Amino acid sequence: MKDYNQKSEILIDTAEWILEEFGSAAAFDVFVKDEDPEAVRETLLEVRGVGPKTADCVLLFAGGRVGVFPVDTHVHRIYRRLGIAPADADHEAVREVLEREVPAAKCGFGHTATIQFGRDYCTARKPACLEDPDACPMGDLCDQIGVYPATGEVVDPADAVN
Ligand code: SF4
Repeated sequence: MKDYNQKSEILIDTAEWILEEFGSAAAFDVFVKDEDPEAVRETLLEVRGVGPKTADCVLLFAGGRVGVFPVDTHVHRIYRRLGIAPADADHEAVREVLEREVPAAKCGFGHTATIQFGRDYCTARKPACLEDPDACPMGDLCDQIGVYPATGEVVDPADAVN
């Protein structure tokens, strides 16, 4: 319950901040859609409760900005397991790799599809390949960093020895 209360407080504070800073929701929308994306990102990050993932989601979904690939816990885990981002990369470093490698127009789809993939296949504790090497559609392309089917062990890629 506390969590819900806290979230609603943050939402109310954010709405008040928008009105104070921009005068109206419409003016805020224009700012998010038209200003330099880095400036929007920096401004949003000053708001209590807004972290990099939320700021990037606002840029992508509300601002319609292509080339922004928000990194949540699924995205952070999966691209390091696959070997596409360095095993010890933090969220920002994974974002840099993805925004460099993924065509700008595909970043939004990539973000949502990766989250779904993380729920359906490459889960945090029990990735599909752990018991069946053919159970994951990405099996042929994946380095399985931190995933050890032989022992059934799964660790964060940053702690992997392979
Ligand atoms: S092969 Fe395993 S570790 Fe690699 S993406 Fe699929 S489920 Fe994840």
